[in-house]
Amino acid sequence: MSILEVKNLNLGFASEDNFYQALFDVSFSLEKGQTLALVGESGCGKTMSAMSILNLLPKTAKIVSGEILYNGENILTKKASEMSKIRGGKIALIPQDPMTSLNPLYTVGEQLLEVIKIHKNLSGKEAFNQAIEAFDAVQIPDAKSRLNNYPHEFSGGMKQRAVIAMALATGAEIIIADEPTTALDVTIQAQIMKLLNEIKQNNQTSILLITHDLALVSENSQNIAVMYAGRIVEHASTQTFFSNPNHPYSKALLKSIPSSEYSKLETIKGQPPALSQIIEGCRFHPRCDYCMEKCRLDIPLLKEIIPNHYSACFLNGN
Ligand code: SF4
Repeated sequence: MSILEVKNLNLGFASEDNFYQALFDVSFSLEKGQTLALVGESGCGKTMSAMSILNLLPKTAKIVSGEILYNGENILTKKASEMSKIRGGKIALIPQDPMTSLNPLYTVGEQLLEVIKIHKNLSGKEAFNQAIEAFDAVQIPDAKSRLNNYPHEFSGGMKQRAVIAMALATGAEIIIADEPTTALDVTIQAQIMKLLNEIKQNNQTSILLITHDLALVSENSQNIAVMYAGRIVEHASTQTFFSNPNHPYSKALLKSIPSSEYSKLETIKGQPPALSQIIEGCRFHPRCDYCMEKCRLDIPLLKEIIPNHYSACFLNGN
């Protein structure tokens, strides 16, 4: 059984006089001790999928149908109090900007201890020891005195380490890392990804890595799900995806990153659709070089083209 399974999730936003669908039958699964990368351009629905898992959606968002199974239980039916124990305690978020998680008015230590106390029934001394252990685990030097620092006294990379320490200290089984290194320079990026990989190996933590950066994905994930305009268009092992991408959008994405294999750097023509834009048929068809008449009329479903490799494209014969 997968530790996390998103099944046929449909979600939209209500305005005064309309309802705009943002996620269409989104399905993917995350295995214990593995990293699944959810990739795609900005606005494709990656973060919205993650926020659905954490039950942190904006007020205007509405899940129309679907299930989110954590250890086999549908967490969409959980009460708010049960969900707040799961969020942070079992499923933790590492955001792009760590200041989203850190309050500038309290020391990092106070915030870490607060999180430990909420999610674990520990005495003050035990919680303090856990906080030190968590700082040691994320390689923040001189943990005891650093706990007394305010967030502004930490560098960007250190802040991100502190947020990861919070996830570690509560024993989270799943870490949702939403563009965790985008705000960091390249050297620190590599250190943070190395740290996340070590945590995954040592604790059998599962990671949902949300990113637009395919270079990051190739080295740091076992599986990949590509999203386009609210739909998953390809789902495969990372190795299969990079050696044999199937969907025209995936191929276009790969051609748009610098690499020796795809030496000529290309851009994808056009723009991803706005949320309010209604597109009949395949949502990628206005930008697809292989668009056929059928693509403008019908929706291609995600289909297993070889074992464990799924793609949603009529070129595969569905
Ligand atoms: Fe392109 Fe048609 Fe495949 Fe969509 S279904 S990706 S438009 S070929």
